[in-house]
Amino acid sequence: MARPSKAIINLTALRHNFSVAQSLAPVSKLIPVIKANAYGHGAERCAIALADVAPAFGVACIEEAIQLRDAKISQPILLMEGAFEASELQVALENNFYLMVENQRQLKMVLEAKISKPLNVWLKVDSGMHRLGFAPQQVSAAWQVLRGSANVAENIVLASHFSSAEDLQSPATPKQIALMKTLADELGTTNMSLANSAGLIAWPESHSAWNRPGYMIYGWNPLRENNLDLKPVMKFVSKVSSVRTVEVGSFVGYNGVWTAQRPTIIATIPVGYGDGYPRTAKGGTPVLVDSVRVPLVGTVSMDMILVDVTDVENVQIGSNVELWGETITVDEVGECSSSNGYEVLARMPARVLREYQD
Ligand SMILES: *Cc1c(COP(=O)(O)O)cnc(C)c1O
Repeated sequence: MARPSKAIINLTALRHNFSVAQSLAPVSKLIPVIKANAYGHGAERCAIALADVAPAFGVACIEEAIQLRDAKISQPILLMEGAFEASELQVALENNFYLMVENQRQLKMVLEAKISKPLNVWLKVDSGMHRLGFAPQQVSAAWQVLRGSANVAENIVLASHFSSAEDLQSPATPKQIALMKTLADELGTTNMSLANSAGLIAWPESHSAWNRPGYMIYGWNPLRENNLDLKPVMKFVSKVSSVRTVEVGSFVGYNGVWTAQRPTIIATIPVGYGDGYPRTAKGGTPVLVDSVRVPLVGTVSMDMILVDVTDVENVQIGSNVELWGETITVDEVGECSSSNGYEVLARMPARVLREYQD
């Protein structure tokens, strides 16, 4: 009865990946990052699945954090970009959200807030990415003023984020780590947070009190290596919905972008850019049909894609399709669409049915 396109979300794999991540840095606290609807996997269900093991969760904004509270998640939740408006501070306090403080305006908001209890604050350093954070020479002053404020709880976390940790050759990461270690020493703290997935996997020196992996929790390695036993959490599947043979010279799909060079069997799959399959996916992007990798042909439509199944025996309406998951990696699909697996996952819209498996 239903459209056969769906994302099967394996929560056992999610918990497995959490334990793999934890095993890389057993003494650190591991904060699963579940921003952007848990990278498209469904933030509530993922948080609930990790609720007995995660000491906290990381999100991008207070709206995402409130959604988790509404789903009865009781852990502290880190707002990784801090507050956008002063009105968020009271809400953060009432809900036990950890608040990043990354610029002078946010600092002033915290110091001047009329609140009854102290907030848990993370002080973000711009160690080289130049996106958020205090410049290194401003950090000591910001730290001291936060320490001295009745609005701020003890145990401020010194935090930063890597720009290039998936690139083992880049000199950026060792520089960022060295800078942060120097600052932590100067401030006399070990309460630090640096590592994202790539830091956790590839830069043991970056492991600190709190690590913040996202991508790897969903089963993908930003270094594109297979050396960890990570299991893809999402398998995006469908079934062939139409099949036809076209003659040599036939245009296929919108605008005749692809022309048949041989008599070709075209299978239609009811998944398009309205389902998060990237419109920019180029011809040849792999799609799995009946366990065979076949090439995408023509342009991606809003609701459908077309693949060349001439070389696969007996493809029919109802033949099984995997867009990514077990055999096709989301990184491949990202790369074939001038993007990466992160964007492909984060763009998965609500239209795609999520089917959860425990
Ligand atoms: C998204 C994000 C992470 C997680 O990064 P991954 O590469 O997915 O592990 C960690 N920290 C911050 C500040 C982020 O924005």
